[in-house]
Amino acid sequence: MKRLSAILIICCLVLTLLAGCGGHPKREEEEGKILVYASFYTVYDFAQKIGGDRAQVVCLMKPGTEPHDWEPTPQDRAGLEEADVFVYNGAGIDGWAESLLSGLDRKGLKIVKTTADVQLLQYGVDSVTQSTGDEEDHGHSHGENDPHTWLSPENARLELRAVADGLIVADPDNAAYYEGNYSLWAAECEKLDEAYRQGLKLLTQRSIVVSHAAYGYLCNAYGLEQVAVQGFSPDAEPSPKKMAEVIDFINENGIKAIFFEEAASPAVAEAVSRETGVEVLVLNPVESLSRERQEAGEDYFSVMEQNLETLLSALE
Ligand code: ZN
Repeated sequence: MKRLSAILIICCLVLTLLAGCGGHPKREEEEGKILVYASFYTVYDFAQKIGGDRAQVVCLMKPGTEPHDWEPTPQDRAGLEEADVFVYNGAGIDGWAESLLSGLDRKGLKIVKTTADVQLLQYGVDSVTQSTGDEEDHGHSHGENDPHTWLSPENARLELRAVADGLIVADPDNAAYYEGNYSLWAAECEKLDEAYRQGLKLLTQRSIVVSHAAYGYLCNAYGLEQVAVQGFSPDAEPSPKKMAEVIDFINENGIKAIFFEEAASPAVAEAVSRETGVEVLVLNPVESLSRERQEAGEDYFSVMEQNLETLLSALE
């Protein structure tokens, strides 16, 4: 009898170990949840907000990755073979997603393009972005979509709606739960929109000089104008002509600050600052967020609130 118990105990131990190590541990750890893959930080944050504790959300890009030049690896693709839902922006920041998806043999995968209902702006066409010439230098051309849709809180709400609709299709048993999360975060979007509206409405200075042309939707929503030194990719080298134009713009328009973002090099903004004496401040396009900041509980909303404070400090 003793021997039988010993054998049973050993069997249990072996089974426990196997369950812990074998196969795809992530999937087993979070059984009962749908598996959601997100292309980059912003849509990952939105998917977590809607999915709550009913979804396991995986971000393809590691924390702090600057998304404009990122490409998926074969391992990323393999992970996606298991997913129930894939969430992506689809307006150009994750341009690799469509070719990745077209090669996937995954019939049950629900695909959520968060910008499906967002009115897209085009670089060099919509007047919110001051065009000073050579955008083509950075591999972008006039008329290309501005992918930074989420920087207007109203667009963020539409993107959260798209995520909620996708999760409800993939996991209808939890429809009421996802709908509840959507209502909660939609209200936060409205609060954020109101804070921007109230904060920015009385400013007389309505131009912002930025390193990376990410703020078209934000400017469009609140009647501001962005002048971008580096065009559409945050690590692009501006031409001397472009630098000179931006420096003239700063001197002629009483600009007090130039904004750069933490995931990119401050070199260009610092060079402009040396020439003009303007302050260099961080404005975050919420395209990526470091692991430390995510662990500290920061998210789309906290970063957008900091951005508003930074804008006010530079424009008031
Ligand atoms: Zn960007």
